Amino acid sequence: MTSVATPDHAPAPFLEKAPLAQFVAPAKPSLVGLTRASLAAALGTIGVPERQQRMRLQQIWHWLYVRGARDFGEMTTLSKELRADLDRHFTLARPEVVAEQISVDGTRKWLLRLPGETDSRPHEVECVYIPETDRGTLCISSQVGCTLTCTFCHTGTQRLVRNLTAGEIVGQVVLARDRLDDWQKIGVTGPEAEKRLVSNVVMMGMGEPLYNFEAVRDGLSVVADGDGLSLSKRRITLSTSGVVPNIKRAGEEIGSMLAISLHAVTDELRDVLVPLNRKYPIRELMDVCRNYPGVSNARRITFEYVMLKGINDSLVDAKALVRLVKGMPAKINLIPFNPWPGTKYECSDWEQIEKFSEVVFDAGYASPVRTPRGRDILAACGQLKSATEKLSAREQLALRAMAMTD
Ligand code: SAH
Ligand code: SF4
Repeated sequence: MTSVATPDHAPAPFLEKAPLAQFVAPAKPSLVGLTRASLAAALGTIGVPERQQRMRLQQIWHWLYVRGARDFGEMTTLSKELRADLDRHFTLARPEVVAEQISVDGTRKWLLRLPGETDSRPHEVECVYIPETDRGTLCISSQVGCTLTCTFCHTGTQRLVRNLTAGEIVGQVVLARDRLDDWQKIGVTGPEAEKRLVSNVVMMGMGEPLYNFEAVRDGLSVVADGDGLSLSKRRITLSTSGVVPNIKRAGEEIGSMLAISLHAVTDELRDVLVPLNRKYPIRELMDVCRNYPGVSNARRITFEYVMLKGINDSLVDAKALVRLVKGMPAKINLIPFNPWPGTKYECSDWEQIEKFSEVVFDAGYASPVRTPRGRDILAACGQLKSATEKLSAREQLALRAMAMTD
């Protein structure tokens, strides 16, 4: 049997919190992150005639997402009048960076400030860039806080929740390219010109992306647009705690890679760790994963499993985990628990994580990473929190797994 939850780990009193804050659009909105349709509509509002909109849109799109223009003045393919008009009505603002940390291994963490409601304090979310030899992964947020209440997750304890707009979702990718000087340079051609530091995006920061469906869908469509930021959908991974109906919808309307925060192999335990399980139990979750469009050995589903000492880390759990995903093109990402002040959980011992990973590996579910096995699995993903402290060693280890989505 798997570890049974102790009374100490009693279920959270509710499954979901209501979002408390709304986005209040500034008087002069940013064009960053608008879908093609919304951008065309925005051009219409300032009097760009319909017959010109397609061409102007294409030009602006190029400046925004290939060149990274931060000022309308840079958009030299547009007339001076149009540039001035755009400047009068819109901005090219990205989320505001309030702190930047660069770790010795090149990982960068940005604390971002987003506007709150009038008179309320601004909100903060984090965005993390994880460089690797063959790719660079950007971990982005979908909400300030999270409406869900997973008991091991710091974000879940946060009271305030606001959905990010599509613009704020795209804005994280845009500002990472700004900070990394990762835009295509004018006059540079050939394969080098096409190479970007930010090559992959994972929605594994704050929030439950599938509870902010439209903004995430629209934002990711901009990120994946081949004439702009141009990250293929195979390089975008959306992580969800298991919002079953929206997983199906994500398959149809987003088409990114999928990661599932599984964390337990029985409903009894998952009801406690991921209370949303009471609404969408494991069986339903597995069924929707099996039917996720495009799943194949080349496009496998990632199952995330946080290692909690004495809770879900027995070898019986490991075997049950392998049984659960049997027959599905799957990867298993073991995540060392990243502790936070006030948590009742502890991270499993390294030795236990290794043993657990051995069972998973022997069943044919190795993480396809280059470093020696075991080490791969120790380098796992953590959670982001709104504080400006330095990345701890464990956080650094934890963050590396987010990059392991291939
Ligand atoms: N809400 C989404 C995505 C954000 S969380 C989801 O739950 O999938 C990204 C990953 O970090 C999830 O797998 C989540 O379970 C995991 N996570 C959350 N808190 C953690 C912690 N303290 N230590 C390690 N991983 C954690
Ligand atoms: Fe929300 Fe994901 Fe944290 Fe659960 S693990 S509370 S879904 S951010």
